[in-house]
Amino acid sequence: NSRWSVAGMTALVTGGTRGIGCAVVEELAELGAAVYTCSRNEAELNQRLHEWSSKGFSVSGCVCDLSSRPQREQLVEKVSSLFSGKLNILINNVGTNIRKPTTDYTPELYSMLMATNFESSYHISQLAHPLLKASGVGSIVFISSVAGLVHADVGSIYSATKAAMNQLTKNLACEWAKDNIRANCVAPWFTKTSLIEEVLDNKEFLDLVASRTPLKRLGEANEVSSLVAFLCLPSASYITGQTIAVDGGFTVNGFP
Ligand code: NDP
Repeated sequence: NSRWSVAGMTALVTGGTRGIGCAVVEELAELGAAVYTCSRNEAELNQRLHEWSSKGFSVSGCVCDLSSRPQREQLVEKVSSLFSGKLNILINNVGTNIRKPTTDYTPELYSMLMATNFESSYHISQLAHPLLKASGVGSIVFISSVAGLVHADVGSIYSATKAAMNQLTKNLACEWAKDNIRANCVAPWFTKTSLIEEVLDNKEFLDLVASRTPLKRLGEANEVSSLVAFLCLPSASYITGQTIAVDGGFTVNGFP
């Protein structure tokens, strides 16, 4: 049933070698898309590309540091030449965090977090717009965070970059609807990936997170990627401008 397939579609997933991005690459490839991805570590990228090719997935990729403007331009040029100027799916996944009290952030850290988390997804969306439009049916998904919806003690810059993404989703949904491009946003709560290794080692903090989360556990990367993939399906054709939390109920949990 073609409503539940992305067969024949092309996709760019930023940061696909680990965690949520990796799960999204696999989900989209399994559903039939031709996927392009990137990361900074070449050895890990080659390892993943090898694994995906032995699973029969159509995935290619290159090394790219998404915090660099010229590297983003080169990335989208490669995607454009590989997919003949047409892209159906853009997943803005790359993001990082360094957690500090607001008073301790240096200008360098501020710029690094802004460039990696927000500017990169803004710029990649600008660069990909002609490709998404040319494909006839485009879908953008931003990987935001629950930290962009409510206070979570993970640092104010990270949280502000995610809140900015939530708003950008609404603007692009309205601005690019005429080009048949949808834009949606997925906001995960703590998800077991390399990004939160420190958290995963902290039993006390894990217990606190579980105690405040109705489903009483953290999320898995493939519990996020399933929603991301759904938002790219023809079945989701009337859904645009939304930010959806994948959080085990955390953001709706009031008192006690
Ligand atoms: P991971 O750190 O586990 O994976 C990040 C991926 O992105 C890796 O493939 C990494 O490869 C790549 N990457 C990181 N920085 C860059 C860069 N500058 N340029 C290119 N590639 C890069 O992170 P997660 O999977 O946990 O996070 C993915 C997204 O989900 C992020 O936006 C994050 O903020 C968000 N999120 C995660 C949550 C969690 O609890 N895990 C909760 C809420 C949101 P390499 O290092 O080799 O570049």
